[in-house]
Amino acid sequence: MLPHREVYDSEHALLREAVRAFIAAEVAPNFPRWESEGIVDRGFWLKAGAAGLLCPQVPEAYGGAGGTFRHHAVITEELAYSGFGGPQGNVQVHSDVCSGYVLHYGSEELKQRWLPRMVSGETVCAVAMTEPGAGSDLQGIRTRAVPRGDGYVVSGQKTFISNGQNAGLVIVVARTNDAPGAKGLSLVLVEADRPGFRRGRKLDKLGQLSGDTSELFFDEVAVPAANVLGAEGGGFAALMTELPQERLTIAVGSIAAAQRAFDLTCEYVRQRKAFGKAIGEFQNTRFKLADLKADLSVGWAFVDQCLERHDRRALSAHDASVAKLWCTEMQGRVVDQCLQFFGGYGFMREYEICRLYADARVQRIYGGTSEIMRELIARSL
Ligand SMILES: Cc1cc2nc3c(=O)[nH]c(=O)nc-3n(C[C@H](O)[C@H](O)[C@H](O)COP(=O)(O)OP(=O)(O)OC[C@H]3O[C@@H](n4cnc5c(N)ncnc54)[C@H](O)[C@@H]3O)c2cc1C
Repeated sequence: MLPHREVYDSEHALLREAVRAFIAAEVAPNFPRWESEGIVDRGFWLKAGAAGLLCPQVPEAYGGAGGTFRHHAVITEELAYSGFGGPQGNVQVHSDVCSGYVLHYGSEELKQRWLPRMVSGETVCAVAMTEPGAGSDLQGIRTRAVPRGDGYVVSGQKTFISNGQNAGLVIVVARTNDAPGAKGLSLVLVEADRPGFRRGRKLDKLGQLSGDTSELFFDEVAVPAANVLGAEGGGFAALMTELPQERLTIAVGSIAAAQRAFDLTCEYVRQRKAFGKAIGEFQNTRFKLADLKADLSVGWAFVDQCLERHDRRALSAHDASVAKLWCTEMQGRVVDQCLQFFGGYGFMREYEICRLYADARVQRIYGGTSEIMRELIARSL
């Protein structure tokens, strides 16, 4: 069970109940099919929107609930703890990552147009930074948005883009001028119905199978100048401002999924017998599980500290990197050890621990790899 925590109040508890009911009614029955099809139904987004589970932080003026990041965190925790990593990742990118760029950098007109649709699920959003030749090092981005007439023409290629197949709106990180390194990068909104936009392959992944991850192609896509989010050339600064929230979200998802693996394992070792007793009675099992329990307890305490800081706008990039690094690495240790207690059954896809293991691996890669987190943390030493 997710631990009771002081960082949440009765309003969050009500939201938590609503998320659980939604997962039971709309996610659980469809999940096996979504996993085999490699994508959630488009209808999932509309239902999640109708249930009030998308972009809870968006102000009421733009159709949202006017919540805080803690509302996002409740939704992320519940989806991750349910063990449905694909839909959790989809929602995370749309709600916790993309909505922030539109809300904080969009013009009034863009906010009026897109935020209500993102809240309702009518529009699914993706953010496209990564390219075949530029992942950790965004300075290597080659996608260009060249000024032409009263707008820009976007050309280039992106890969590994979450929500790539369902997205109706893509926030593209593109080079708008020849300033060296990151200075020439801007955030450009590209609507999926613009001529020249094309979706590539839905990529075949190790885990999070129902979360679609895709290549995207931009072949001279003309967009109006008003589609630039924030200042032209201000893309890198905007990313640096928004990435801490993305990293905290990943940390929250990691610890909730790790808690799920731990709880499943505690149940299993009580039932599974070897040498005449439950495997949970061996000292090795008890000590290893005690270590994992200690990891989880310390992790939750730091995550809660970060949640509280983030709602006060006091979460530093350093805090977010520490949370992402530690929670995702901890999740890796937890799922690996937990799977070991399942023996051969842990290697079978019909056992949930197998999926939790596979789904966990990417947490140390996207949103900035563990190595990049260490680089960022080391800068403050
Ligand atoms: C399932 C999935 C979903 C994703 N979703 C999105 C998305 O929605 N939008 C998006 O833009 N991207 C997305 N990504 C891309 C993800 O953010 C990148 O994969 C990640 O940033 C790493 O980039 P890369 O794959 O190019 O690896 P590289 O940058 O090539 O790194 C390879 C290795 O080198 C290491 N390395 C790189 N630089 C350093 C350094 N300075 N010091 C030490 N080690 C270093 C890395 O840590 C890594 O171990 C997704 C990826 C996956 C797998």
